[in-house]
Amino acid sequence: MRTRLESRLSGLTGLPYCALTGRGATAIWLALKVFAERAPERTGVVIPVTLCTSPPAVVIHAGLTPVFCDTDPATGNLCPRALTALLAERDDILCVLAAHLFGEPADMPAIAAACDRSGAFLIEDAAQALGADGIGTYGDVTILSFGHTKIVEAGGGGAALTRDPLLAAAMQRQADALSDKSPKASAWAETYRSTYYAAQSVWDRSPEAKEWVGAVCRAEPGLYLYRLAESQTGLILSALERLDLEIACRCERAAAYDRAFAGIGTPLNRTGAGVPWRYGLMLPEEARDHAASALREAGIDASSWYPSAAPFFGDTHTYPGGEAIGRGILNLWVDDRADAERIERSAAIVSNVLTGAAANGGRQYG
Ligand SMILES: *Cc1c(COP(=O)(O)O)cnc(C)c1O
Repeated sequence: MRTRLESRLSGLTGLPYCALTGRGATAIWLALKVFAERAPERTGVVIPVTLCTSPPAVVIHAGLTPVFCDTDPATGNLCPRALTALLAERDDILCVLAAHLFGEPADMPAIAAACDRSGAFLIEDAAQALGADGIGTYGDVTILSFGHTKIVEAGGGGAALTRDPLLAAAMQRQADALSDKSPKASAWAETYRSTYYAAQSVWDRSPEAKEWVGAVCRAEPGLYLYRLAESQTGLILSALERLDLEIACRCERAAAYDRAFAGIGTPLNRTGAGVPWRYGLMLPEEARDHAASALREAGIDASSWYPSAAPFFGDTHTYPGGEAIGRGILNLWVDDRADAERIERSAAIVSNVLTGAAANGGRQYG
């Protein structure tokens, strides 16, 4: 079953070697451990500032240091100009992690060229982008996830893929040495969730509350690092049978959002090469939180992911692109809950919030 899953993932990405892991986050950790063996004098790992907390958390659990880099506010992906400037300043960068955020491929030719110049390894984080065109072409290692909310959701699982046989063998050794998922993992995940929401309820007034989230991330490596359970293998294989259909449905729903939201907010740039993970829309920052609450009150899920990840880890530098995303983004679901009626209703609700805000505040929103 494992071999069948490995072959399937190699077939999907064009990368011949595959190490299976308990989570996508574990797969990032595998790659980092192997890179660190090759270049022990380098300890920095570049992480795009618009991202969830698990990649920077596993950087720390690999004994390395996250170095945040700004993102492009039009896409949420790593900004090649900011990366080039950062790499020119430092000689301690082991690796750059480029995520294909919201399923949209990052600017890999420019990112890979910057990595080549500085001798840094490159990870493509395709946790949200399984099935997008060209994924895995540039990275030394490409990682996938089958966890909650991913394109193919199987209740958990991850993989690290590469075309380099030596990296592959070293990653497999790390994967074989992993423990099983702890019976406490779901309690740790619950602690993370409750801490995150407690911090979020106060961080506008007390920004230092963001460090509570980082503290939970650092506390328990077993939240992130474990092997793939045999029972997950079959679940992932059968979930993958829906991949083509899932992608087609997501593309249709994103197109329906484009039509419904024409003139309401600004959708994130999509090239057509990506797989919509969520429908991402930039709203005027004064209106975003109102729009998210109005949607939730109507029983429609919406999120404001991602806030800048840097402050969770005690980094208080300014990242203008990532902060603009954090203040303005609204994420809407493109999974099978998003039928045509719900998409229309979402657009009507957001439109009402914007016109209401304009009427109240005397402002006109574009
Ligand atoms: C979900 C996710 C991860 C981690 O995957 P898990 O399977 O949850 O560990 C890493 N990077 C990105 C961009 C993700 O969305």
